[in-house]
Amino acid sequence: MTYIVTEACIKCKYTDCVEVCPVDCFYEGDNMLVIHPDECIDCGVCEPECPPEAILPDTDPQADQWLSLNRDFSETWPNITRKKDAPADADSHKGEENKYEKYFSDKPGLGD
Ligand code: SF4
Ligand code: SF4
Repeated sequence: MTYIVTEACIKCKYTDCVEVCPVDCFYEGDNMLVIHPDECIDCGVCEPECPPEAILPDTDPQADQWLSLNRDFSETWPNITRKKDAPADADSHKGEENKYEKYFSDKPGLGD
């Protein structure tokens, strides 16, 4: 089992999650983070830290469609272990629907 990040993270990227992960398994894209499914130890401590509730266990039916995205991009995006400032417009995108279709970027973020 693993936890995964959904499209709710896109353009929010508050990064509160990375501070609490004991195994540093978050990876940073241009406008969202993903979790490496093989590194996550399934502790669950990141889930309640995420303001837009973007983190789900893979047992959640909504998680299925995001698992391969987390797996694929955690192999290529850089590791992030320290909290950064959220984008200035993060709050305005919190709770917005269909963010993957509107904004997903496959570009890497900067990482730590
Ligand atoms: S706390 Fe949530 S919104 Fe922020 S980076 Fe982590 S998963 Fe994305
Ligand atoms: S469930 Fe635990 S190990 Fe997995 S990403 Fe969240 S904090 Fe890290």
